[in-house]
Amino acid sequence: MADRDGTTPALVNTSRDDATLRILGEAVASAYDAVMITDARLDLPGPRIVFVNAAFERMTGWSAAELTTLTPRILQGPETDRTTLQRLRANLSAGEPFQGSTVNYRRDGSPFIMEWSINAVTDDDGAPRYFVAVQRDITAFRRRLAEAEEGARTDALTGLANRRAYDARLSAMLAQPDLVLGLLAMDIDRFKSVNDTYGHGAGDAVLVEVSRRMASIAASTPGALLARTGGEEFSMLMPVTSADSAAAIGERIRATVAAQPIVIDTGELDITISVGAATADPSMLAADRLSHAADRALYRAKEGGRDRVELAGVGDA
Ligand code: GH3
Ligand code: MG
Ligand code: MG
Repeated sequence: MADRDGTTPALVNTSRDDATLRILGEAVASAYDAVMITDARLDLPGPRIVFVNAAFERMTGWSAAELTTLTPRILQGPETDRTTLQRLRANLSAGEPFQGSTVNYRRDGSPFIMEWSINAVTDDDGAPRYFVAVQRDITAFRRRLAEAEEGARTDALTGLANRRAYDARLSAMLAQPDLVLGLLAMDIDRFKSVNDTYGHGAGDAVLVEVSRRMASIAASTPGALLARTGGEEFSMLMPVTSADSAAAIGERIRATVAAQPIVIDTGELDITISVGAATADPSMLAADRLSHAADRALYRAKEGGRDRVELAGVGDA
């Protein structure tokens, strides 16, 4: 294709010359993205498929021969987003391009998430003759995105919510005016000595087991969020009915953690926690002082001898 001077001539996409058309046709046929061309009939039963490329066949499991004359509806199913399809119709009817994503289905019925754009190819009068859809399977990308979002909210060691997730939930719960919010601030007693005596690995194993025991109580507390909010510090948020009920839940967690020794490789450890409980009781505590009040109550539990629950009062706000 090189000219005498060694350069390759540009392809002009309005050119009807055979060589140009052949190259453009090859480009579409062998493109990495799936390409489907339909005619431009928007009335029922809808556009008919006139071309799909090899990538489209690979993505859907349908062959070009099977799809030709069928409508793209063959790819849709129960999870296909109807609102997106309505927008597609509206755009194409108005002569505008479309971009979106939805669930589609392969020939074997398996779903995949498809992102696509559609442009019309018009005839000499400007009327749409064909719709060209360029599609890509983004299922794996969406899954990785969801995992990354989940990872950003989760503590890697214990699997509990992390501080970021906790802060978000605290703000959301504080914004609910008719909800009485209870908060527990919990801290493992003399944890440093576990690390110092048995090593960091044993410390980590204790953190995991303490989390598991706390989580068993959180699971039976409706609307609760348990989080690892610091190294060996945990917090729990939950709707409560009275000031005392937060302390009662804190006491259940304390007792559950202390109930049996924690088994590590080199033996058994008696682990206890201290708990500060606070309730957003309008007569006593402003909601935005809740965390501070729970921390103050936790400090008193430590000062008072550890392995106990203290309820925040007026002086803690
Ligand atoms: P107190 O009863 O007053 O709470 O005493 P403490 O020893 O638990 O308190 P301190 O805050 O002095 O020590 C907390 C220790 O927690 C210090 C740090 O080495 C340990 N720690 C924090 N995060 C981790 C972790 O992810 N893994 C392990 N193994 N240890 C951790
Ligand atoms: Mg601590
Ligand atoms: Mg501690």
